[in-house]
Amino acid sequence: MELSSLVNPSVLSQPAYEPGKPIDDVARELGLDPRGIIKLASNENPFGPSPRALAAAHAALEQGQLYPDGGCYALRQRLAREWSLAPDQFVVGNGSNEILELLGHVFLRPGDDVVMGAPAFIVYKLVTLLFAARAVEVPLRDFGHDLERMSAAVTPRTKLVFVASPNNPTGVANAADDLVRFARGLPDHVVLVFDEAYAEYVENGPDMRPLIAEGRKILCLRTFSKIHGLAALRVGYGYGSVEMVRLLGRVRQPFNVNAIGQAAALAALDDTAFAERCRRDNRAGLAQLEAGLARLGVPTVASAANFLLAEVGDGAGAFAELQGKGVIVRPVASYGLPSYIRITVGTREQNDRLLAELERWLARGDRARPVT
Ligand SMILES: *Cc1c(COP(=O)(O)O)cnc(C)c1O
Repeated sequence: MELSSLVNPSVLSQPAYEPGKPIDDVARELGLDPRGIIKLASNENPFGPSPRALAAAHAALEQGQLYPDGGCYALRQRLAREWSLAPDQFVVGNGSNEILELLGHVFLRPGDDVVMGAPAFIVYKLVTLLFAARAVEVPLRDFGHDLERMSAAVTPRTKLVFVASPNNPTGVANAADDLVRFARGLPDHVVLVFDEAYAEYVENGPDMRPLIAEGRKILCLRTFSKIHGLAALRVGYGYGSVEMVRLLGRVRQPFNVNAIGQAAALAALDDTAFAERCRRDNRAGLAQLEAGLARLGVPTVASAANFLLAEVGDGAGAFAELQGKGVIVRPVASYGLPSYIRITVGTREQNDRLLAELERWLARGDRARPVT
């Protein structure tokens, strides 16, 4: 008997998640020196973790023989202070990705509908299909979520609605009042998952706390992987009602968040100066990339995040060429955007290098013609 015939069909229908290529993989495959490679593919923080987070992580490592605090007590206390909410309104996950899966465990049954944008973060769809629910994908409008059409797509079968602002892979944020109005307009049988992975980069994001206080079914998701520069340590969290958090807590593993990550996250929250500097430098880097790409005649999508879409014509070709030069970006054909690449904002020097390599590629006569 074939092993595959024993498998839960939801597993076989899982679309592949294509992560940004790790530097060591590229070095190995292309015979390059890893120290010369830069990764602008996964929206990581080019300035690294905060020194205070790093020191806290080192200190926590000394107690590596002990299981972590499964309840993330100190971190949830600190988050409560940060947000003026109660500690039991926070669920901490192994990255916010884990919380996306917990939502599936808690809410999804085969045949349920889940409404999401297209293209949006692929994990929404992965989780939906894993639980044999139906992904109702609503095309973006001007690269941002089309909230009116998403509202209209909600049916009595809808359980979850995923919205990210700024959206990934496009970088476009919806207006705060539009998002709040959308959240208020959702029927009572629907849970809104509001993904704020890049919210720290946005000037005027929405505040969902009053809606949560009103009893609306909303879970907001945050991560330490982006502006806090701790992607390797896998810490994210959600905040919502006490009941929502308790339900998610029922389905998580007892020690889902490691102690080094907890300690680093705690310290990162205290280093507000570092986060502020990253925010400012990101804005400058975004402007640098926008200006540089405009000079090369490459259209971009106006981003509110730490990455942007660049319409290079042949996205796969640009990706391969840049990778060969030691600059890893993200091809987004799997998101239905074959003529684009997604570029994470790097340091000034990294951005310059990307622009120089792209310029060289664009100047070459033998490259494929734009698909558009
Ligand atoms: C990066 C990202 C996350 C964060 O993932 P972690 O698991 O916390 O690293 C969540 N949502 C979106 C849309 C993202 O781009």
